[in-house]
Amino acid sequence: LEAQFAQSQKMQAVGQLAGGVAHDFNNLLTAIIGFSDLLLLKHKPGDPSFSELMQIKQNANRAAGLTRQLLAFSRRQTLRPQVLELPLIVDDLTVLLKRMIGEKNQLSVEHGRNIWPVRADVVQLEQVIINLVVNARDAMPNGGSITLRTANVERSEAERLTFDGLVANDYVMIEVQDTGTGMSPEILQKIFEPFFTTKELGKGTGLGLSTVYGIIKQTEGFIYPVSQVGVGTTFKIFLPRHVPSEAEIAAKTTAAAAPAR
Ligand code: ADP
Repeated sequence: LEAQFAQSQKMQAVGQLAGGVAHDFNNLLTAIIGFSDLLLLKHKPGDPSFSELMQIKQNANRAAGLTRQLLAFSRRQTLRPQVLELPLIVDDLTVLLKRMIGEKNQLSVEHGRNIWPVRADVVQLEQVIINLVVNARDAMPNGGSITLRTANVERSEAERLTFDGLVANDYVMIEVQDTGTGMSPEILQKIFEPFFTTKELGKGTGLGLSTVYGIIKQTEGFIYPVSQVGVGTTFKIFLPRHVPSEAEIAAKTTAAAAPAR
């Protein structure tokens, strides 16, 4: 628990710092990109300086992309939790996800029956799934398969899982499995730390999984990675089952009973 508290304190501090720096930095980058555009207009594509100017502009654009990610990480967006059906969220994302992982990777989706609802912010949950799938893709440079699974996990079953801190509750689990490189225990230990990345400069910020961690904590859920070098990685996320209040049930019944027009 103490470690988790330290982790969230650290994330908050990093978030504030990163947000401030990213904001100012982004303004400077906008100026660099703007002035390179002006200079590019004064050169023809064949000119010796043209390709160098293009390099400046392209790299400034990449840097702007990174600062945008930093800003997204630091922004404490107000949560809009609503009652959601996880399988629908996953299904709505599959076209986008398939495009993101490209032709050499396969995506399959397996839903359990009658998955319980959860209460969460849709945009944030989508961000979680996208981040995990992008990481899975990056871990499979030669291609492979990614499986998304949803399942109900009953309280008794959840209690049997020896995961620390799993509070007695019914959970809905979403799993993202890949057949990628896997991670050593040393790396696995650090993956939720802000700015921890093994990706080359310009490719990774090390903010993906710390963002995911933050979102899952706010939703009162848990995330567990299981990984084996050379075999692959599975991220399991547990979100508490949403049990509708009597008022919610009443509202639904009335809506259903209303005559269709
Ligand atoms: P980034 O993707 O920018 O590096 P993340 O926080 O998303 O930042 O991930 C941190 C690190 O965790 C990655 O650089 C990688 O080493 C490791 N990692 C994350 N997901 C996977 C995965 N599915 N397979 C192997 N390694 C992974």
